[in-house]
Amino acid sequence: MKVLVINSGSSSIKYQLLDMENEIVLVSGLVERIGEESGDVTNKVFPGTDRQAVTRIEQTIPDHRTGMELAVDLITDRDKGVIKGRGEICAVGHRVVHGGENFHEPTIVTDEVILAIEATVPLAPLHNPGHLDGIRVAMELFPGISQVVVFDTAFHQTIPPHAYMYALPYELYEKDRLRRYGFHGTSHKFVAGECARLLGKPLDQCNLITVHLGNGCSMTAVKNGKSVDTSFGLTPLEGLVMGTRSGDIDPAIHAFLAHNKGMDIDAIDVMLNKESGLKGLCGMNDMRDVHAAIARGDDKAKLALDVQAYRNRKYIGSYMAVLSRVDAIVFTAGIGENDATVRRESLKGLECFGVQIDETANTSHVHGSLRISLDGSSVAVWVVPTNEELAIARETKLILTR
Ligand code: ADP
Repeated sequence: MKVLVINSGSSSIKYQLLDMENEIVLVSGLVERIGEESGDVTNKVFPGTDRQAVTRIEQTIPDHRTGMELAVDLITDRDKGVIKGRGEICAVGHRVVHGGENFHEPTIVTDEVILAIEATVPLAPLHNPGHLDGIRVAMELFPGISQVVVFDTAFHQTIPPHAYMYALPYELYEKDRLRRYGFHGTSHKFVAGECARLLGKPLDQCNLITVHLGNGCSMTAVKNGKSVDTSFGLTPLEGLVMGTRSGDIDPAIHAFLAHNKGMDIDAIDVMLNKESGLKGLCGMNDMRDVHAAIARGDDKAKLALDVQAYRNRKYIGSYMAVLSRVDAIVFTAGIGENDATVRRESLKGLECFGVQIDETANTSHVHGSLRISLDGSSVAVWVVPTNEELAIARETKLILTR
């Protein structure tokens, strides 16, 4: 069973073709700069398929349809492709950032589903229109093949009202659905499931704190396998300190900037999303650059790492209070999987809550999942690589075989 996973953005399409008999990636690719003067497609064929490894096409890609067609042509190419034709693809799984309150689980695309995703556009104006383009094009290119949408918000739909409501006038929720939604749900759910398997316990008996630290960062409190709180809010700006996003700030900062710096709301929004976080503090948003600068004695880089790790620690502590009993803390994504210093600093001072890190394991460079807490630690700490494409392909397969 071959599943095509698509993450269609406003000007790019990421895709992967997976063989779900053995969960192997056959092809992964990226269509970039759709709608610009010059675009490109990079298509990578994985070992085991005895085809040429990487193909790159540079040309104008006016719209999503052209981009998808180029990708599909590469996948099905007689010489370089890995499948003979589109008919070999059983289903297409689409990543969708925002499902609002309508979607609690992956869903087969119908006309009503498209209308419901359209209704969510005001909540995710930067993401959902691009997803809708990808879904419509895939429906045209693969008629009769099941299309499944997997929402970043779905896993968090179990969060109770006392955790998802903002203390704002109630009409804003009633009329505009303004509330915490949470994102990265596919990743949090995936690593929670993997961690439960590693702990040898059914997921619905596990209390976990899942910590996704990449360019975007978020944390989730998972109680008996279900999300009960998460750090992202109405948008993926709230919560932890990220590469370029501020995470939590005093909401009065908006008024301060407007009154004292003459900034309008759009300029503030851009600043908080693109010029803040690690980048705002030290000029660098890539954690590897931050480490290199710290090694050169850059104080601002050290401060940026400290601010991020401190925020992580504060959230871990608050989620311990939310969960009461914690089986494991799970680190994932680029920083979470690779950065022993950030993990160590994020767990500092939590020994009195039963978190004892094994520094030898923490600093060993093991590929794959690894327990990094001491045997006696009452809260286990794990590093578990995330794999959102595989998670989407699994969900897609599951819904079709149900
Ligand atoms: P995205 O949110 O875009 O999916 P990733 O999960 O790929 O991001 O994470 C990107 C972040 O991970 C960057 O800050 C990058 O510096 C960091 N990262 C990747 N590899 C390492 C590493 N070996 N050590 C420290 N940080 C790393």
